[in-house]
Formats: sequence, C-alpha cells, structure tokens
Amino acid sequence: MKIKQTEFVISAVGPAQYPESGLPEVALAGRSNVGKSSLINKMLLRRNLARTSQQPGKTQTLNYYRINGDVGELYFVDFPGYGYAKVSKSEREAWGKMIERYLRGREPLKLVLQLVDLRHPPSADDIRMYEWLSHYEIPMTVVATKADKVSRSQWQKHMKIIRQSLGMPGHVPLLLFSSETGQGREELWSLIEQSAAL
Ligand code: GDP
Repeated sequence: MKIKQTEFVISAVGPAQYPESGLPEVALAGRSNVGKSSLINKMLLRRNLARTSQQPGKTQTLNYYRINGDVGELYFVDFPGYGYAKVSKSEREAWGKMIERYLRGREPLKLVLQLVDLRHPPSADDIRMYEWLSHYEIPMTVVATKADKVSRSQWQKHMKIIRQSLGMPGHVPLLLFSSETGQGREELWSLIEQSAAL
C-alpha cells in the first residue's frame, strides 16, 4: 500500500473513546521492547509517529493511528506492551480488562498482529497472549521482529521454534520483519489489505 497520510488519533482508555467511523482496525500486541513502535513507524514510513522505547508497562491505553492509503483507510490500534516485570498486579489486571473489552465484540477489528522477537523463543507471556488472542477467533498473524539481528541461515530454525512454542496451526501466517531493513514490509501490507478487505 502506498501511504498518503497518517495521524495519531487518540489514546483511548475505554470504549467510549474508540472511533466510531467503522473503518477496519488492525491491532498490534507484543512484549515491551519487541519492536512494536519501530514496526508501526516503518509500516507508515514515519520516523517518530509511534514513540519508540516509551516507558515500558506504563501505558494503559489503546493508541489509535489513522492511515490513509492508496487503496483505502484503516486504523492501527497499538496495545500497551506486556511482560514488563515491574508492573504491579493491579496494573496488569487493568491491562487485561482493557484488552479483553476491546477484543470481545469490537466489530471493526479485522486482524491482530502478534509481535515476537525472532532472536529468542517466545516467552511465557507471549505464549499466554497467543492463546488468549486465538481464543477470540480473530484472524491473526505472528510477526517475528528484528530479523536483521539473526543470520539468514538461522531464520528457518528460529521460525520453527516460534511456531512450535506458540502451537501455531499451519494456516496462521508467521512473517519475518525488520524495521532496520524494511524486510517483510510489503508482505505485511498485503496481508493487512486482504484481512481488512481494503
Ligand atoms: P517497543 O517497546 O515494542 O515499541 O519497541 P521499540 O520499537 O521501541 O524497539 C525497542 C528497541 O529495539 C529499540 O532500541 C529499537 O531501535 C530496536 N529495534 C526495533 N526493531 C528493530 C529491528 O527490526 N532491528 C533492529 N536491529 N533493532 C530494532
């Protein structure tokens, strides 16, 4: 997709603030530091739209970005990063409630991207998140980030570990991505366009 315009819309704390335009939504989930902000910036070709390295675990909002591309319009919905050790139990619970409320019955949600770091086996949090997301039966794609940090000869091995650890069925796509090189960007846009029926 060719990006014409992008804008940050809102940090929504609850459903009352979710946009009502009905445009398709693509949600992004992943551990703090997995490279989520970098991926958003790379997908949108914006240097600093999604702030990279926000204070981990502190954002309890869904950040909406509106994207106007040559084939249509949609939102990216950025979930707060998870898996940060210093988050209190009550903060974690608030996080879970917010995400659950969003996933349950958010009609415009067309696709969830779950980001995992290609370098490491998925964490217990990644596995829990994957199982939780699968439960909602929303189309999912797993995106393995930081591919430039793993040598090409090791990609298949690492991808196999990710598939097996998450228990991904064959029909769920697993995509290699690098915000450094742009690897995977076109493929991910194609998947998004398909899922969002743009
Ligand atoms: P977030 O917490 O998930 O939003 O993660 P960030 O996007 O802030 O990235 C965390 C760190 O990883 C930053 O230092 C980024 O520069 C780095 N990073 C993110 N994506 C990539 C990538 O594809 N390749 C490399 N080499 N570094 C990356």
